Amino acid sequence: MKKQVLALGGDGIGPEILDQGLRVARHLAMRAGVELEVTLGLLHGASWEAHGTFCTEEVLEQARASDAVLVGAVGGPQWDDIRVKGGAERQDGLMYLRHHLQTYLGLRPARAWGPLLNRTPFRAGAADHVDVLILREMCGGAMFATERGQRRVNGLRQGHDLTAYDEAEVARFAHGGFQLARRRRGRLVSCDKSNVMESYKLWRTVVTEVAREYPDVAFENMFADNCAYQLMMRPHDFDVVIGCNQLGDVLSDLTAVYAGSLGMLPSACLSGGPDQASVFGMYESTAGSAPDIAGQGVANPVGTILSVGMMFNFSFGLPDFDALIERAVMETLQAGVMTPDLGGTATGTAMTDAILERLGP
Ligand code: NAD
Ligand code: MN
Repeated sequence: MKKQVLALGGDGIGPEILDQGLRVARHLAMRAGVELEVTLGLLHGASWEAHGTFCTEEVLEQARASDAVLVGAVGGPQWDDIRVKGGAERQDGLMYLRHHLQTYLGLRPARAWGPLLNRTPFRAGAADHVDVLILREMCGGAMFATERGQRRVNGLRQGHDLTAYDEAEVARFAHGGFQLARRRRGRLVSCDKSNVMESYKLWRTVVTEVAREYPDVAFENMFADNCAYQLMMRPHDFDVVIGCNQLGDVLSDLTAVYAGSLGMLPSACLSGGPDQASVFGMYESTAGSAPDIAGQGVANPVGTILSVGMMFNFSFGLPDFDALIERAVMETLQAGVMTPDLGGTATGTAMTDAILERLGP
């Protein structure tokens, strides 16, 4: 089996953690008899510096021709306020790819790791074995507002981003959520602010309609503010939580608290539901480019490495590698090989060495 992967390091710690992820990808590919063809490219700030655009057409075409895209991380203060003519997707390399490849289903699994529980703010026993999947809609909502800008209203400066979702965008995303819930513990919470916002009223209506097609999944609507509170107060009661682009972004960093570090969280953005044998996806750590620790070699590679497992699962149709990687990560943590964000002194390379060792030949 041959698989084509486009690897985009991006900015800050991005290239460092991508390198570690690729080491694991190559190792597992060899083991699985997958002929892995990796093409390297630039994204966001790195692309801006080289080409004056956050994502070139060439990179987009290479992504289209690939089975999957593996990303390090993007962003940095020097590029945050650059305005490019065009829509939201023009301002950010990752959003450009998400938009054009329609990778709408954002999976952000967050779990507790025994050896890291003392790094969390939870009291003993309160977060043991927690395992929650936050699903973030990746292609619509306020972040992709077509009506946006800054203007003067009554002499005052006003910034505005129109939040809009149509029923097709919500339905395809919700279907993905219910299909994933079926593969897990069969529970799904949809969060919104339909008590105060019109776009969320439609969101709730559509998700509730889709839920009727999945009577075997225990379904509940929850207001997002309360949901954030409940996720921290009774994390064991949650399985899959779905939310719009913006709420999903915030909730997935919130649930990183279960893991003890933002650097532990993987993500996948899929262009189709999980019930397909293999689906195009973009894979990256949930966290950002961490400019505060870039270039020191101490970035935690686990989020990227776990994302590689998701790539094998969803885009290569090889589901067993997820669990294999998780076990090797767990054993590495148990052996105390940890980067500084986890309280250890290992470099990202050393932590990856330890994970590779435990993955076996
Ligand atoms: P961040 O996620 O980069 O960092 C938040 C904190 O977590 C920092 O203290 C950082 O050191 C730490 N951290 C993150 N990843 C880590 C890792 N792998 N190992 C160890 N520590 C890690 O968020 P930020 O500082 O708010 O944003 C920095 C830049 O990243 C911004 O330009 C932002 O736009 C961008 N960003 C990109 C993505 C992405 O590429 N998907 C996601 C979020 C933010
Ligand atoms: Mn985020």
